[in-house]
Amino acid sequence: MKGGGVILPGQTIGVMGSGQLGRMLAMEARRMGYGVQTFSPEKDTPTGQIADREVVARYDDEEAVRDFARGVDVLTFEFENIPVKSVEWAGEHCVVRPSSRVLGVCQHRIREKEFLDGAGIPLAGFKAVGSGGDLAVAVAELGLPAILKTAAFGYDGKGQRKIEPGDSLVEVWAPFVGVGAVLEQVVRFEKEISVIVARGVNGETATYPVGENVHRNHILDVTLVPARIGVEVADRARRLAVEIAGKLELVGIMAVEMFLGRDGRILVNELAPRPHNSGHFSLDASVTSQFEQQLRAVCGLPLGNTESLRASAMVNLMGELWEGGEPDWAAVLGMAGVRLHLYGKKEPRLGRKMGHLVAFGGDVEEAEGLALRAREVLRRGEGR
Ligand code: ADP
Ligand code: MG
Repeated sequence: MKGGGVILPGQTIGVMGSGQLGRMLAMEARRMGYGVQTFSPEKDTPTGQIADREVVARYDDEEAVRDFARGVDVLTFEFENIPVKSVEWAGEHCVVRPSSRVLGVCQHRIREKEFLDGAGIPLAGFKAVGSGGDLAVAVAELGLPAILKTAAFGYDGKGQRKIEPGDSLVEVWAPFVGVGAVLEQVVRFEKEISVIVARGVNGETATYPVGENVHRNHILDVTLVPARIGVEVADRARRLAVEIAGKLELVGIMAVEMFLGRDGRILVNELAPRPHNSGHFSLDASVTSQFEQQLRAVCGLPLGNTESLRASAMVNLMGELWEGGEPDWAAVLGMAGVRLHLYGKKEPRLGRKMGHLVAFGGDVEEAEGLALRAREVLRRGEGR
C-alpha cells in the first residue's frame, strides 16, 4: 500500500465502473490535474472516453483488478454493483474510498435497511423476504399495497413489483425466486427529496441544498434545487444525511433518497455511496460540483463549498428523445440559461440515460419551465 492517504494533483484516480458518473468525475479530476483510469467490462465507455486509460475486464478478474489497483493512487467507484471481494483485492495495493464495508451495505437492500433501522433512521415498514412463504407472512404483516424489491442489482425501478390486493403472490414471487428481496410499505409521500452529503477522512461533512425529485416510470426525470420545502424540513433532511454518513464512517460522497410524508415525517428510501443523478445540478449551479467533492473526499483533501449560485432545474434526456431523429442540439444551444450535458453513449436505447439539461432561473419554477421547454425544443418529429 502506497502513500499517506492524501492524493494530490498529478496523482491518479482509479474508477471502478465506466458510466456517466465516472465520466463527470473524470472531467473534474482532469480539470484539476489528476490522472484518471477506469475499469469495467465495457469498451468505449462514457468514462473511458475521458480517462487516460480504459481497462476492459470483468470485475471478478482478480489479476486484472490487482493490476489496475497497482497503477492508481486511490480507487473509488461510480456504481455500487462492484463485488466487495474485488474492492478488497484492490485495497491490498492502493487506497480505496469509500470502504468495502460501505459498498457492501449500500449494494444490498436488506443489509442497507437493516443498517439504517439499527441506526435509528426512520424508514418505511419493511420485511426481508427469502421465499414465497416469507412473502405471504410479510404481506400479512405490512398490508397492501406494498412494493417488492430485489435485494441486489436493482436500479431505475428495475427488479421492483408493486403488489395490489387480489394479486396472486405465487405469480408475484416467480421472478424473485433465488434472489432475495425486501417487501416495503407504499409511502404516500408529499414529495421525494434527496441530499448529497460528503464526508472527509477527518470526519468533516458537507451537504448540498436539498433536491426535489420527480420520477417518471420509476426513473428520475426532474430535480429542482432548492426543494420547495420549509427551512426546518430542509435542515432536518440535511442533518439526517450527515448522521447516516457518520454512522457509516463514509469517506466519499453519498446520496440519501428520502420521502417527505404528508405528515411532515422524513423516511429514508435508499443510499448511493457515489455521485447521484439528483446532484447533477451542482456541476452548473454550485461552487463545488458533487464530482469535485467526491474527488476531494476520496483524496483526503478539504471539502469544497456546497453553496448554490442560482436556483436550478435538471431534466434527464432519455433514449426516448431520439425516437423522432437526432435531437435538435443547435436549437437548444440557442436558448439562454440552459446547459447541455451528453454522456457520449452511441446507442439511444429506451430507458437509457443519454444526457441531461440544467436550466437556471430566479426561482425553481422559472428554472423548471425553462428546462422543460428546452427539452421540448430538442424533440424532433411528431412529439414536438
Ligand atoms: P431504484 O434503485 O430503482 O432507484 P427505489 O427504491 O429508489 O429504487 O425506487 C424507485 C422509485 O420508486 C422511487 O424513487 C419512488 O418514486 C418509487 N418508490 C420506491 N419505493 C417506494 C415506496 N415504498 N413507496 C412509494 N414509492 C416508492
Ligand atoms: Mg432510487
